[in-house]
Amino acid sequence: MNFSLSDDQEMMVDAARRMARERIEPVLARHPVDQPLPKAAMLEIYAALAELGITAPRIPVEAGGGGLKMLDYGLMIEQLPPVVALSLISHEGTISRIHAGCPEDIRARYLPDLIAGRKIACTANTEAGAGSDSGAVRTRLKIEGDEAWVTGSKMWITNASVADVINVSCTLGQDDNGRNIARRILLDRSESEFEVRETPVMGLQQGHLSEVVFEATRAPAGNIIGEAGDAAKTLTLAWNGNRPLLGLMCVHLAQKAFELALEHAKAHKQFGKPIAAHQLVQQDLADVETLIVSARLMCYSALDAIDRGLRANGSSAMAKRHATQACERAIQLCMQVHGGMGISRELGIERMWRDARMFQVPDGMNGILALIQGRELVGIGAFR
Ligand SMILES: Cc1cc2nc3c(=O)[nH]c(=O)nc-3n(C[C@H](O)[C@H](O)[C@H](O)COP(=O)(O)OP(=O)(O)OC[C@H]3O[C@@H](n4cnc5c(N)ncnc54)[C@H](O)[C@@H]3O)c2cc1C
Repeated sequence: MNFSLSDDQEMMVDAARRMARERIEPVLARHPVDQPLPKAAMLEIYAALAELGITAPRIPVEAGGGGLKMLDYGLMIEQLPPVVALSLISHEGTISRIHAGCPEDIRARYLPDLIAGRKIACTANTEAGAGSDSGAVRTRLKIEGDEAWVTGSKMWITNASVADVINVSCTLGQDDNGRNIARRILLDRSESEFEVRETPVMGLQQGHLSEVVFEATRAPAGNIIGEAGDAAKTLTLAWNGNRPLLGLMCVHLAQKAFELALEHAKAHKQFGKPIAAHQLVQQDLADVETLIVSARLMCYSALDAIDRGLRANGSSAMAKRHATQACERAIQLCMQVHGGMGISRELGIERMWRDARMFQVPDGMNGILALIQGRELVGIGAFR
């Protein structure tokens, strides 16, 4: 076991950190902190991500992707502003699904622009009655000859309002056992009509989280992807990888808050000495470090398990649940160390806390993650 980064990993981390500082953070800084970024700004950011080589990290180099190990990808994700990192995993996750489930003509049509960051993609699964129960999708797909129609609505979809291509989970109806016959279809914004409405939320406010409504939206039947019934399996594979990545986005936020808190504790005085010299403040700082380090290591370990081909359902669920909660707590303690400044908009820690809270919802709520881990422990599912 080796806990230090290899030379290659050091270089990847350094490149991601530099790209974030020089090309991504300036774009975020030019726009209001509480409004979704315009599409042009997103494309500027995607051009930088493409240059960094992480718009398709999970597909092989021969297919135009990065062919990265998940741990290496995670190390880079940790360096990016979380609002960008979340958008990226929606985009690149969709690229992986197109790569894995589409005929050559569809891949050739979409993948080059998506990998180059000239177009943006996303995946729409969640509906009002199909959140944690992701298989309960009711959005209806009807096929007639060369054409297909989609009717239904999706909610909480990352990137939807800036996406050129949306991978939509649908149902063709139910089989003889009453189970959904799941299918996915790619809807291209330039050829299919549907409504997208931004949903105001508490955090990650420069990002895009939308409701999407399809009213007999027409698309070529050739855009239907994957084999019938594979949607759940494909999504689960992606979720196992995504969960520790989301955990590392929280680690990024908590680390930033921690650095501010350390600096503040050493500079700010009460009772005639720096607050860092008071025992309880030192305990807060020690707790914060413990929360961050444990979260980071658990996420790295889950990603490494995926790279080694081990079953990672339990460990990746555990990593996300621990990291999102630990980092929320860590940021809260950093706010506490800052006293009144901690809750001021000016300093920005309260925004980090609101951003971190967002990550407890996508790709498995904490209750569901506990059940996934529990199922691994006892071999019995407790979902229904
Ligand atoms: C920032 C963000 C990005 C997102 N991006 C996307 C995206 O790109 N694409 C997409 O399709 N969706 C996306 N989502 C949606 C997200 O995946 C869902 O919101 C999530 O799966 C939870 O579904 P829900 O909101 O319907 O809550 P519910 O599933 O209704 O959960 C509500 C509560 O019930 C609990 N619960 C539910 N079932 C059980 C059970 N069997 N046992 C015990 N407790 C249970 C949950 O733990 C939770 O506490 C995103 C959400 C957020 C916040």
